[in-house]
Amino acid sequence: MIKLENIHKSFGKMDVLKGIDLEVNKGDIISILGPSGSGKTTLLRCINFLEKANEGTITIDNLSLNVKTAAKKDIIALRKKTAMVFQSYNLFQHKTVLQNITEGLLVVQKKPVKEAKEIALELLKKVGLEHKADAYPSELSGGQQQRVGIARALALNPEVILFDEPTSALDPELVGEVLDVIRKIAKSGITMIIVTHEMNFAREVSSRIVFMDGGVVLEEAEPQIIFNTPKHERTKQFLKRLT
Ligand code: ATP
Repeated sequence: MIKLENIHKSFGKMDVLKGIDLEVNKGDIISILGPSGSGKTTLLRCINFLEKANEGTITIDNLSLNVKTAAKKDIIALRKKTAMVFQSYNLFQHKTVLQNITEGLLVVQKKPVKEAKEIALELLKKVGLEHKADAYPSELSGGQQQRVGIARALALNPEVILFDEPTSALDPELVGEVLDVIRKIAKSGITMIIVTHEMNFAREVSSRIVFMDGGVVLEEAEPQIIFNTPKHERTKQFLKRLT
């Protein structure tokens, strides 16, 4: 279970998050939608302390941290419960695909090399890239690189995977293969929070949609409610523009 309470974040004088509350149950697939600049990515990055919120409490499972007073070791422990898939993949360019995935298993989880390789190969199979294990990221398409990014996130066996606009850097013809992989792992019961502009995908895959605007959650509900009968005028306008 993940619980965000009263999360505030500002950059200089700009208040980007203005008191966000959100509860995510185990196995939930939450998509965060909203206009550009509404604070979606910032919220995602506050969950794992990639951005440090100014105020609020973040709970993952049995670990509850007040952002103002959290000790470094607790922040590290909380981070270990999460994995992130970045817009721009963020793979290690000088490591092979396999090494990109084993890195966290060896360094963070201290797994033996043989076991780490087995896990990595299994995950590469899952994302359809076992034949690319020895390739370097620069030899892969953007879609393939992102699938490696997803395999790397899965390898950490996190409580939650945070997806930060995972397809927005991709050429349109490569978006589908990445969404297919996310769809597939969504069915495996892992908790996911996805910031995305892919409306049809969000509608299909999410257990709940969170609509943000101006640093607040305007409404949250099941996809059919958000898409068919949104309560808020802002949500209606946003969805109308996209359809
Ligand atoms: P998009 O859909 O365009 O990615 P978003 O809803 O994810 O937008 P954020 O990326 O969270 O929005 O940004 C919210 C606001 O915070 C924007 O005005 C952005 O310029 C600002 N912002 C984000 N990160 C920083 C930073 N590190 N320093 C200063 N301002 C920032």
